[in-house]
Amino acid sequence: MNLSANAMSLKSSWKDECGIFGIWNHAEAAKLAYLGLYAMQHRGQESAGIVTLDTHGYKPAHKVHKSLGLVADVFNENILNKLTGSAAIGHVRYSTTGDNLIANAQPLCSILLSGPVALAHNGNIVNASILRKALQSEGAIFQATNDTEVLLHLLAKNPSNHLVTALIESLKKISGAYSFTILAHDRLLAVRDPFGFRPLVLGQIKSALGIGYVIASETCAFDLIGAQYLREVEPGEIIEITAEGLKSFNFKSEKSVKHKTAHCVFEHVYFARPDSVVFGKSVYSSRKKFGEQLAIESGIDADVVIPVPDSGVPSAIGYSQKSGIPFEFGIIRNHYIGRTFIQPAQSIRDIGVKIKLNPQPEILKGKRVIVIDDSLVRGTTSQKIIHLIRQAGAREVHLRIASPPTTGPCYYGVDTPQKSELIASNNSLEQIRDYIGADSLAYLSEKGMWQAINSGPENFCAACFNGDYPTSLEGVENKKIQENKI
Ligand code: AMP
Repeated sequence: MNLSANAMSLKSSWKDECGIFGIWNHAEAAKLAYLGLYAMQHRGQESAGIVTLDTHGYKPAHKVHKSLGLVADVFNENILNKLTGSAAIGHVRYSTTGDNLIANAQPLCSILLSGPVALAHNGNIVNASILRKALQSEGAIFQATNDTEVLLHLLAKNPSNHLVTALIESLKKISGAYSFTILAHDRLLAVRDPFGFRPLVLGQIKSALGIGYVIASETCAFDLIGAQYLREVEPGEIIEITAEGLKSFNFKSEKSVKHKTAHCVFEHVYFARPDSVVFGKSVYSSRKKFGEQLAIESGIDADVVIPVPDSGVPSAIGYSQKSGIPFEFGIIRNHYIGRTFIQPAQSIRDIGVKIKLNPQPEILKGKRVIVIDDSLVRGTTSQKIIHLIRQAGAREVHLRIASPPTTGPCYYGVDTPQKSELIASNNSLEQIRDYIGADSLAYLSEKGMWQAINSGPENFCAACFNGDYPTSLEGVENKKIQENKI
C-alpha cells in the first residue's frame, strides 16, 4: 500500500512497474486481454492499452486502443468490440504523471521491414539512455520517454526481415530487466531477459478456434480467464507462437558469475498479487513464511497481531500462527479510493492516511499491538499508522517488517526511491524506531528471507536490500539527469 501523495510525485518517469499480457488464437482475444489486464491492475494504474491483430482484411492489421487511467475506465464494451482479431497483447503501466504520459502508454506500435509490430514491456532497460542517445545521433526520432521505444528503434534498424533474428541481435545490446510481449502480423512473441528479473508465464486456453496460448506477467490473469498454466517463459528465452504452434529460442545477452538468475525478490515481498505463482512459488505462502520467520527472529510478548492491509496480511497471519498471538484486523482499509478524492478546504488531521486506513479502537484499546507491514521505504506511512493506532488507544505498538531494510534504489522497474529518501540507508534501527514512534522495531533478516523462500541471492535480485546489482549500471546516472529535467 502506498498512502503518500508525495510518493506519487517523487516517482521518476523511467521506472515502469507494469503488467503485460498476450493471447493467440482466441475468438475473443481483446476481451480476454481486457480481463487479463484487469486481474493485473495492481501492476500499473496510470495507463492501459490493448493491440489486436486482425487478419481478415486485405493485409493483417493492428487495432489499437490505449489511454491514461484504469483498465475499467479505458475500455468499454463498444471499444472492445472494435478491437477485432484473434490475437492481442496488452499493457498496464504505473509511472509518473506528466504531459507526455499518453505518448508513453503501451503497447507501442510501429512498422518494421518484417511488417507491423506492437510491443508491451515490463521492467527497466538500464542502458536505455545510452542507446537512445546513440540512436538519436544517427537520426532516430523518439515519440516518448520510456525505455521500450529503444527496442523498437533497434529492431527497425536491423537489416533482417526475420523478426526473431532481428530481436535476438537487438536484445544483445540491451541490459537490464525486461519481459516483453510482441505482436507481429503473423506471430506472438514472449521474451524474458537472461536474468529473469520480471515474471512472465505461459498458459493454454481452449476456444472455438482450437487451442489458444496466453502470456502474462502473473498467473492471477490466467485464473480469471480460465487458462491453464503451462510454465514460466525461461530467463533468456523467446517463445514464438504462430499458426504452426510454439517454438523456443534461447539467447543470452548478459552473464554474471554471481547470479544464475536475478528474479526480483520484491515481487514476493510486495509487488505481485498474493494469489499468483511467481518464479514457481506461491506469493501468498512466501509472504506467510516471511511472517513466520519474523516471529522466530524478533518475537515479542503482545496481545494482538494486526496487518497493515492489504500488503501485510499474509505475513501477519504467518506471524500470528507462529507466535500464537491472535490475529485481528485492527485497521480497516477503504478499497474504493479513486483519483477524484477531494480534500475539504479546512484541513482535517491525518486525512491522508485515514481516507484509506481506519484503526478500530475496540480491537486496539489498552492492547500491546504488533503491527506487520511488508516493507518500510521512507517511513512516512508507518509513522502515520503508528500514530493512529496509538490514538485508537493501543498501550504499546511494535512494528515488524516482513522484509530486510530497504537501502538501495531499484534500477530494474520497481518504484523504490533514491538512496537519500530511503530511511534505512541513512539511519540506525534506533533512529528509525524513534522517527516512526514505535515501542520497538524489527526487520526480517536477509538470511531469514532466503530461508523463508528456500532460495538464495544466487537466484534472486535483492539489490534494494543488499546493494548487489546483478548487471552493470552504466547508463543509470544519465537517466537520473533526464528524470530531474522532466
Ligand atoms: P513508506 O511510508 O515510504 O515507508 O512506505 C511503506 C509502504 O509503501 C508499505 O506499506 C509498502 O506496502 C508500500 N510500498 C513499498 N514499495 C512500494 C512501491 N514500489 N510502490 C508502492 N508502494 C510501495
